[in-house]
Amino acid sequence: MNISIENLNKIYTNGNWALKDINLEIPNGMFGLLGPNGAGKSSLMRILVTLMKPSSGKVTVNGRYDLMKNRREIRAMLGYLPQDFRFFAKLKTWEFLDYTARLAGMKNKVQRQEAVDRMLEEVGLFEARDRNANRLSGGMKRRLGIAQALINDPKIIIVDEPTTGLDPEERIRFRNLLSNISTRDVIIILSTHIVGDISSTCENVALLNRGKLAFTGSPSDLVREAEGKVWLIQATEKEYLEINDKFPVITTIPSDYGWEMQVVADEINGYDGRLIEPNLEHAYVYFMEKKLNQWTSA
Ligand code: ADP
Repeated sequence: MNISIENLNKIYTNGNWALKDINLEIPNGMFGLLGPNGAGKSSLMRILVTLMKPSSGKVTVNGRYDLMKNRREIRAMLGYLPQDFRFFAKLKTWEFLDYTARLAGMKNKVQRQEAVDRMLEEVGLFEARDRNANRLSGGMKRRLGIAQALINDPKIIIVDEPTTGLDPEERIRFRNLLSNISTRDVIIILSTHIVGDISSTCENVALLNRGKLAFTGSPSDLVREAEGKVWLIQATEKEYLEINDKFPVITTIPSDYGWEMQVVADEINGYDGRLIEPNLEHAYVYFMEKKLNQWTSA
């Protein structure tokens, strides 16, 4: 599978320019779409799942299907788990899944029932199949959301803000479920503003900031960009406020000196500090700040 995005723009009718000339290749496997709120992630997702048209630009799937011209073919390949996935009351878990399978065009009742049972097993909800869907726990609801997105054996799976509202155990479970699926011939796009959601699972990531593509590549490429830019500073009480003013601060912990602060900066002119190995979180902050400053000073 492959999605190719060329010169994509989205300008809302009120003039909000949500996507600015996006060029992006999305290959097989798990793809992380990362950016702060308002970056344009949902706009891009809504375009990819054919719920909204771009203002200009082109999206091609497998070099063959044009998102604007082959909507039916592309819809048949899609599974979508929106951020605010909800279902109506009074349906049992299996009934809800059966209903979405019917919506997805699975007409044969026996085949549909098999698919529903298989899916319930896969997401660990078989035991809860007769429970009312709206009485499932948060994590179980999320898994039912994934089940409805996967019931039609989609080739492109789009998941918005995957772990919002999940406890740590459920997050891990959810992540494992997705990485199992990503070994098939599929694309899974995870859209999130939480760096930790994507670090361990995604082969490729894209950073969006204010509608622009700030970076695309592997997570380790992203980390490499921040090498030589992340510092650990020993700050006195007095320096603490100054440093907060001057640099993006990632973490602050109390120390014998006063404070131990991790900051991103090209240099820390005069403060008592040393360079440390960056991680993905550092790189994300570095990138957002760097791009932000480039734009505002341009
Ligand atoms: P994200 O999902 O990364 O938070 P969005 O795609 O929701 O970002 O938003 C990108 C930009 O587009 C923001 O400035 C937002 O205010 C704007 N926007 C989103 N949806 C609409 C809309 N329906 N009408 C006008 N502007 C919108």
